[in-house]
Amino acid sequence: MSNPESQLPQPGTAAAYGQGEWLERYGSSLMGVFGAPQRVLVRGSGCYVQDADGKQYLDLLGGIAVNALGHAHPALVAAVSEQLGTLGHISNFFTSPAQIQLAERLLALAGAPQGSKVFFANSGTEANEAAFKLARRNSGPGRTRILALEGAFHGRTMGALALTAKPAYREPFEPLPGGVEHLPFGDIDALVSAVDETVAAVFLEPIQGEAGVRMLPAGYLQAAREATRSAGALLVIDEVQTGIGRTGKWFASEGVLPDAMTLAKGLGGGFPVGALITFGDRPSSLLAAGMHGTTFGGNPVAAAAALATLSVLESQDLLANVRATGEYLRRELAAMDSVAEVRGDGLLIGIELRDDVAPAVVAAALEAGYIINSTGPATLRLAPPLILTVEQAGTFLAALPGILHSVRASASGTSPSAATPSTAGITTEGKP
Ligand code: PLP
Repeated sequence: MSNPESQLPQPGTAAAYGQGEWLERYGSSLMGVFGAPQRVLVRGSGCYVQDADGKQYLDLLGGIAVNALGHAHPALVAAVSEQLGTLGHISNFFTSPAQIQLAERLLALAGAPQGSKVFFANSGTEANEAAFKLARRNSGPGRTRILALEGAFHGRTMGALALTAKPAYREPFEPLPGGVEHLPFGDIDALVSAVDETVAAVFLEPIQGEAGVRMLPAGYLQAAREATRSAGALLVIDEVQTGIGRTGKWFASEGVLPDAMTLAKGLGGGFPVGALITFGDRPSSLLAAGMHGTTFGGNPVAAAAALATLSVLESQDLLANVRATGEYLRRELAAMDSVAEVRGDGLLIGIELRDDVAPAVVAAALEAGYIINSTGPATLRLAPPLILTVEQAGTFLAALPGILHSVRASASGTSPSAATPSTAGITTEGKP
């Protein structure tokens, strides 16, 4: 039997196989849910990754808002290696110092009051699954409704999918867990009139990342806090995409204390970690012993990865970098002719183009050595590593007008030779 390890490209040498061969093997061995991958990536360092043909890319997507410290960050590599070399997995019959330290650290960062608690999972959807169960535990006779927003994305497992709004994601799997209603996005009056004693919980993303980086209007979260508090409903804030420094704050919802918050993506810096934080005594007591569980959640290696990520974010003041680089990017992007609107906060940026060419722009950017993605026909999203420098961002800003020009030219047929990007395999959706 051949050793698959021996087929992996070795650091410092050319890839053993080119992309064509790998993609062919992908097509015959991997389930087709993601479509055709855009590239076969073999290594990364800082904000750059390299494909199997040796081409380098500036990663402005960060594994979809995940690689907070970029690729192969020495502190993350050391923490994971050391923990795995000491104690890797133990099950939740046991605990570890790393797990306890991470829970304490998250409670402190979130400004959670006495009695608050953490449940660890491995992904965003799992964190929201746990939050969905929390919502059910706040249900009772006459209190059965769970509210989320149009455009919401909370994950792909059945509970989280019930909270997710997009019909194309939901319909193939109906019936989904019941009781979920989707309210018009950003409409404070609609929210306030919907929240009454029949509501068990309200789920909100402070910024809808998958829907194209849509910001909730000022005052919305505060209004949700007041309405849920007076109705006895739980306010659950999904910070899976926006949390852990992505917006230049630890949490995008800072200033509003929810009953529960979910985290994943950036928390482990690329290592799979998810978390549900419950705020205060009552929400923290809803899931009693035996009511929920996981084999891997909160394992020492994942906890060590998250602790290392948090520690680098803090010691290098990367939240300040997120604010500065994000502001620079948004300002420069907004000044471009082809850009109708720039949305977002920190390094979560949505770019609304004037034309429906976003998938072609993604493909052309890739050809030019930049990884970005599109969340809709005219919408681009950037969610780069939080270590991205102004200089690195500047190389993309310098290249983008040319990329947009080549896409427009090839769309209008005026320049068939100019970077005629194929959109094959470039989906218009984020595919978390
Ligand atoms: N919640 C939000 C706001 C997300 O953006 C995502 C993924 O994009 C999820 C939940 C699901 O996370 P995961 O893909 O880790 O299951």
